[in-house]
Amino acid sequence: MADNKNLKKFNFGQLTELHVHIGSSVDPAIMWEIAHDQGIKLPTKNYWEFLKLITVSGITSYRKYLDLFTWTELIQSSPEAIERSVYSIASGAYRKNNITTLEIRFNPMKRNRGGERDLDHIILSAIHGMEKAMLAYPIKVGLIICFDRAFTKNLNSILAQKAIKYAKRGIIGVDLAGQIDKSFDIASLVDQVSACRKSGLGVTIHTGEATGSSEVRRVVELLSPDRIGHGVKSVEDKNLLKLLGDRKIVLEICPSSNIHTGVVSGWEQFRRIFSELKKYQVLYTVNTDGPEMLATNLINEYMLLINNKILTEEDLFKATEIARRVTFIKNGSV
Ligand SMILES: [Zn+2]
Repeated sequence: MADNKNLKKFNFGQLTELHVHIGSSVDPAIMWEIAHDQGIKLPTKNYWEFLKLITVSGITSYRKYLDLFTWTELIQSSPEAIERSVYSIASGAYRKNNITTLEIRFNPMKRNRGGERDLDHIILSAIHGMEKAMLAYPIKVGLIICFDRAFTKNLNSILAQKAIKYAKRGIIGVDLAGQIDKSFDIASLVDQVSACRKSGLGVTIHTGEATGSSEVRRVVELLSPDRIGHGVKSVEDKNLLKLLGDRKIVLEICPSSNIHTGVVSGWEQFRRIFSELKKYQVLYTVNTDGPEMLATNLINEYMLLINNKILTEEDLFKATEIARRVTFIKNGSV
């Protein structure tokens, strides 16, 4: 974990983070309290066992990593829980890392207990948590709604409608996330993504993480995203790297997350990835994906890249500047 010493030694100033999920970014102690406040029956009565249940400790597979969200999503499945979660993520980001611009993503349909809770209430509560954090701290926050690879086209369409409905009230973009489902087709999102874009929403898509470069190409061709979540597998295809560079599509790289999920084998592979991105002038930002579940934070990610001699301080200033420039949060307020 980074501490204040690191913060002073490498003063990156005000930071921007573009890629965190609600399910992996709430302090475990707060998750424990939310679970108890709501009387949720957990598989353990021991806090330290609970901590293991919702943090990576040794996880090295993508599937197992996403399985951790089963508990966090259940605990966050009420208006009260989602409001507190968003508030704690935004306020913690400012206090711990001097993050003053933060995009937070989630799938509200994974937090309404299969339709038992009203989707609009879940979304409004997330917006309320965000607004309260902006009242208390000098931070700009925006929310991204995630489609899901395992959802039907109809369910993803409902999510698109909700994103559009709240486009002027705190929802700033859409994303695609979720467990890899072989029956899912990127083409099924074309209409929804284009409707969202017309409503002024930004588009970022998780691809080139657990899926290969051929899917990244398909995403670029069919959905024309502004940004790509991860995208590290793009280095498999030089022509694709050229395309990403030419189209100025920005990658949201999450180093520790990729190492924990086994998507990237280690820092040596990251060295090659970043050197290819630079060679083809692909724009990239650095993010955590979920600081609490991954036991990291943004400054720690920066320090890992510096200490492993993968990126220089100058590279990271540039990545910070790119993040500030490409955020979906409009100037002033959302
Ligand atoms: Zn992610």
